[in-house]
Amino acid sequence: MAESRTDVVVIGAGIVGIACAYEAARLGKRVIVVERDKEARGGSARGFGLLWQTGLASSLLSVAAESLKAWREVIAEARLWSKQDGGLTIAGTELEAQVLREFAERAPDLGYAVRFLDRAATAQRSPAVIPEAVVGSILGTAGVGVDPSEVLTRVPQWLAADRGVEFRFGHAVAGVEMPIVRCSDGSVIRADRVVVATGDRMDGLFPEVFSRNAIKACKVQMMQTVEQPRAWDFGPSIALGLSARMADSFDACPSIDELRGAIAARAPELDRFGIQPILTQHADGSICFGGSHEYGDAAEEPFDKEVINEIVLREVKKCVQLRDWTIEYRWVGKYVRVASRPLVVEEVQPGCKVALGAGGSGFTLAFGHARGIFENW
Ligand SMILES: Cc1cc2nc3c(=O)[nH]c(=O)nc-3n(C[C@H](O)[C@H](O)[C@H](O)COP(=O)(O)OP(=O)(O)OC[C@H]3O[C@@H](n4cnc5c(N)ncnc54)[C@H](O)[C@@H]3O)c2cc1C
Repeated sequence: MAESRTDVVVIGAGIVGIACAYEAARLGKRVIVVERDKEARGGSARGFGLLWQTGLASSLLSVAAESLKAWREVIAEARLWSKQDGGLTIAGTELEAQVLREFAERAPDLGYAVRFLDRAATAQRSPAVIPEAVVGSILGTAGVGVDPSEVLTRVPQWLAADRGVEFRFGHAVAGVEMPIVRCSDGSVIRADRVVVATGDRMDGLFPEVFSRNAIKACKVQMMQTVEQPRAWDFGPSIALGLSARMADSFDACPSIDELRGAIAARAPELDRFGIQPILTQHADGSICFGGSHEYGDAAEEPFDKEVINEIVLREVKKCVQLRDWTIEYRWVGKYVRVASRPLVVEEVQPGCKVALGAGGSGFTLAFGHARGIFENW
């Protein structure tokens, strides 16, 4: 039976596992990352790749700031494609614009880097908005777009080449009894510290962490267009104004309940499927968009619902224009979240922590999350 020895083992090469490997290497540790698949294909491979503050609860802004600082270093050093032109949340109605204005007024005190743009300024900033359909927008200047599939391949390559991290892809971990990590091929790794970053697999390692914390899975339907013709630059990422009703950051806006009521009355199906449309451009020029939220039994259903894709397209096409709407891919992604605690870390054995991604903001927060996991440990 092959046996190795290291300082830190990270189980899972999704974004949380990658960020933990980066952080442990930064602290001078020898690190082995063990990933079940030939390349990571969990929630991290299926997202928008949006690193942004605008939708986060204000209590998470300091973690986000720390994370974005590390992201900038990783983007530069690993030579990742990125889009640094921020993120727009666009208002298609006067009421949405009212909520966005209220948010922009409070933003500086709360620590958000956003400013309100009127219709003309919005249209000037984004070739993708339909000028006559938009009342205004807020621009989150801290927003950055990355391409998830590129991140999940290139960052491990860079960490291996530059920081000496060893990645073992195609090896599942069968169990942890500190200080031993047992892989399903019979090999064993001895380590001082182990981070279990296995994402939404509630039936995997340490299932008791999931039941103890009442962790819920969320299923999200996504689509991606073909590459946009003539190297079209989509501009900043776009969230529709109706998304504000579901983001913690807008809770303090005086008109948010009126907006919630108006949306529920206009189109109850938006709340039924938790529709929160977001659009981003990826490295190959395609546009990635979607944003439904289904929980409970609906999150476990094996099939996509075409009605959700139709609703997302209907809402998006009211305010957004693309050069080519041909859909090349549709898929489903899952993440897990705990309503009361966005960052879940539990020391399940001495020296072994289970770390879950921060729900729908796990990509944004991953490096700040990893810093917290290794602090004083
Ligand atoms: C559709 C969608 C869109 C999103 N968009 C964004 C966004 O734009 N911005 C943002 O900030 N966040 C976004 N998120 C949230 C973010 O993607 C997640 O919070 C984050 O990816 C969770 O990362 P993770 O590493 O915990 O999990 P995962 O990415 O699921 O990684 C876990 C890894 O562990 C591996 N694994 C599991 N069991 C074992 C085992 N026994 N042995 C070895 N390996 C194992 C899996 O194969 C997997 O690769 C989105 C999520 C979804 C689903």
